[in-house]
Amino acid sequence: MHRIVFAFLSLEQHRRAIESSPASYRPDRCPHCGSGCMWCHGCYGRKADRSADGALNPMPVPRFRCPSCTRTCSPLPLCICPRRWYGWSLQQNVLQLLIAGASLRRTANIFALAYHTVRRWWRSLVVAHGTFSFHLCSRFAELGRSAGRNHFWLACLQRMPLCEAMAWLDRDGITQ
Ligand SMILES: [Zn+2]
Repeated sequence: MHRIVFAFLSLEQHRRAIESSPASYRPDRCPHCGSGCMWCHGCYGRKADRSADGALNPMPVPRFRCPSCTRTCSPLPLCICPRRWYGWSLQQNVLQLLIAGASLRRTANIFALAYHTVRRWWRSLVVAHGTFSFHLCSRFAELGRSAGRNHFWLACLQRMPLCEAMAWLDRDGITQ
């Protein structure tokens, strides 16, 4: 299970933090059972650097283990997308172009992405919009004034980057 940590926006900053203070990633409570004492349980490596040489891969992600329920969790910094290989900023750029009215095919061409990748990102936003907007509006009331899905996401992405919106949703227990 992943929880997103609100910090360390670049991969380089994340690596430095892991080396100097891994405990800064320790969750206050077990996300599974709520027990208040998580133990460090090593790190695992994960592909996260999408630059040409991928020099920062594998990126260490700390793991914590709960002594009560024995389950583990791995907090991810905002710079690493859970489950998805592409970065948040690319997804944000793609979604913003689609919101502005570009077609899926044109957007895929502009970002040199596979058509089905762009379609999957768009569909998952469309499907999750009701849940996402409900939770984000309860935290950021001004977003509730947006009329319609596209207007909502324009306002949301003006207020915060997509990674931050997803981190708030993660904190509310909503998985993307
Ligand atoms: Zn637990």
